[in-house]
Amino acid sequence: MSLLEVRDLSISFSTSHGLFRAVNGVNLTIERGEIFGLVGETGCGKTVTGLALMGLISSTGRVTASRLSLDGLNLLSTRNWQNVRGRRISMIFQDPAACLNPTFTIGQQLSHVIRYHFHLDSAATHHRAVELLNDVGLSDAAHTLRTYPHQLSGGMQQRVMIALALASGAELLIADEPTTALDVTIQSQILRLLKSLRDKHTLTIILITHDLGVVAHTCDRVAVLYAGSVAETSSTVDLFRNPKHPYTQGLLGAMPRHGTRGKPLLAIEGSLPSGINPSVGCPFAARCPLVMKICRTDNPTLTPTENAHAIACHLY
Ligand code: SF4
Repeated sequence: MSLLEVRDLSISFSTSHGLFRAVNGVNLTIERGEIFGLVGETGCGKTVTGLALMGLISSTGRVTASRLSLDGLNLLSTRNWQNVRGRRISMIFQDPAACLNPTFTIGQQLSHVIRYHFHLDSAATHHRAVELLNDVGLSDAAHTLRTYPHQLSGGMQQRVMIALALASGAELLIADEPTTALDVTIQSQILRLLKSLRDKHTLTIILITHDLGVVAHTCDRVAVLYAGSVAETSSTVDLFRNPKHPYTQGLLGAMPRHGTRGKPLLAIEGSLPSGINPSVGCPFAARCPLVMKICRTDNPTLTPTENAHAIACHLY
């Protein structure tokens, strides 16, 4: 059984301008122990999908799905949400400084989470906190436990956030742009850490990013989101070797690579369509260099091809 199954996930928000459709019928299947990339440009629905998987959509939002299950557990039931949020599924965000409480030490914040989930005594809680900080590569754990968030670098803060996310014993970690605010060296360290935690703890990770370089180095499989829908999904290797959807081809063409010095990068002209009163047909039609007549009237569905590759495009 797959760890996470998502079928026909749609998320919309009531706004003063009308109903904003952020996500439209997303299907995802996440296998245990894999790192799955959700990639796309800003506003394509990546983060809101992650928040829906955590049950964290605000009261102005409406989430519908025909299936949303973790290890067979139906997440569409409110009671089940309470049992899994933070316990079996955890989430880390782009800006760790904004997520950590500046008025408590790292030790107080970690201890709070450990005690809440495991009801351990003080000595066992301290031991577990040290173990978690060691796991995320903070070797001087005893010292780190006494520090406040502002005394740590951005990379150390993100390691603490990962420790907090793992403190509940979570089996699925949703990492929303976890390296975007970090410099390149630290970014690479955090990505290596996520991979080593996956291997050591059989953690499953959904990595939300706009950076295809991060996907290439970290993810086993990937889904490319466009305007709230999955445009293409496949193994990472297959996506980079054989991108099929014109949007994916555009994203890869816009990416700087070794050996392309002196050649201009491609740009995808135009911008994402509005989520309010979206037009009929393919959501990429207004920007697609290969647009056909049918694309203006019929929205393509995600269709499997060879090698577990699936594309939502009338060309296939
Ligand atoms: Fe382009 Fe048509 Fe394919 Fe959409 S369905 S990506 S407009 S070719």
